[in-house]
Amino acid sequence: MYQEFKSFLKNELNNIEQAGLYKNERIISSPQGALIKVADGKEVLNFCANNYLGLSNHLALKNAAKQALDTHGYGVSSVRFICGTQDIHKQLEASIANFFGTEDSILYAACFDANGGVFEPLLNEEDAILSDALNHASIIDGVRLCKAQRYRYANADMVDLEAQLIKAQAQRFRLIVTDGVFSMDGNVAPLDKIYALAEKYNAMVMVDESHSAGVVGTTGRGVTERFKLRGKIEIITGTLGKAFGGAIGGFTTGKKEIIDLLRQRSRPYLFSNSIPPMVAAAGIKMFEMMEETNELQIKLHANTAYFVERMKAIGFDIKPTESAICAVMLYDAKLSQEMATRLLDEGIYVIGFYFPVVPKDQARIRVQISAAHETEHLDKCIKAFTKVGKELNLIQ
Ligand SMILES: *Cc1c(COP(=O)(O)O)cnc(C)c1O
Repeated sequence: MYQEFKSFLKNELNNIEQAGLYKNERIISSPQGALIKVADGKEVLNFCANNYLGLSNHLALKNAAKQALDTHGYGVSSVRFICGTQDIHKQLEASIANFFGTEDSILYAACFDANGGVFEPLLNEEDAILSDALNHASIIDGVRLCKAQRYRYANADMVDLEAQLIKAQAQRFRLIVTDGVFSMDGNVAPLDKIYALAEKYNAMVMVDESHSAGVVGTTGRGVTERFKLRGKIEIITGTLGKAFGGAIGGFTTGKKEIIDLLRQRSRPYLFSNSIPPMVAAAGIKMFEMMEETNELQIKLHANTAYFVERMKAIGFDIKPTESAICAVMLYDAKLSQEMATRLLDEGIYVIGFYFPVVPKDQARIRVQISAAHETEHLDKCIKAFTKVGKELNLIQ
């Protein structure tokens, strides 16, 4: 059998390559940071990590992880409900709820699992899920696993959401689900308007704060802080794998009864291993740091404003952003790849995105700003964009 299957696979792989969609992985030989070393020994400035707060290689988190290795061991070799719950897992769940102003939290191996395991236990064919068209793949997959009726609305389009809510009135329960920040444009979901529509049409709301937690809002509490809706949203999901240290781990946080039922019925929670003690302990430490100060958010917001203002002044077309994601619009797919390659030659690591990751003729370079970036890093990046932009006749 495998001979036949092998030629089928080879053909598939060929098609991916022919379409110019083959993903090659660049190898990094240093910790994640503003400055990284790539495999050939070259040092480049990193503008494509989700390391928004610069915590991926933070000393305090590494020390907390090392300490937990001694006090709690390397792994727990169990799911939570058998013997995989340590004191620090409960502490981390409390820290998450405290951070978001919610009632309780439940940990998963990743946010992909949190989203995969949130819908099916809560809703059935009598219910409705109203999902933003640009929601993350894990939300789409999670919705697929659930029998609820599906209604899709155009990205952040409140007219469309209202129309879908009207259609969904026959269903028993309605849940609107949205990313907090959309990863390709950096735009924030209009949660104030979503919440108002939810009130008007008797629906619940779920927000995935993966790209917004730690980033959006004066103190980084995410879009619920930004729109003064702390404690009002039924379900929040998020990751420990982006701003919050970048290791691994996901969570769902929100109303107590929802979390209670997920603990009983959510399959990625019931049938998958607990997160390592090191990750739990470093997570607790990270949330302690967030309680003490919001200096990282202050720096991140200042860095983003600095970058966007200067890039616009130079003549680049940047999508309006309310996050640390800056989409430098080039529209042309080939141009985006050429630009990314030339920027890497200049020591700036960024990624060009094009169809089908973004709509056709909407190719762009996505720049991700971090609190780990110093002004000199931002200046070097802007200088490189200016040089390459002139070479490619994008700016004067
Ligand atoms: C990154 C991301 C995820 C997945 O998070 P992991 O913890 O890496 O699985 C889920 N949802 C959104 C919106 C994301 O951006």
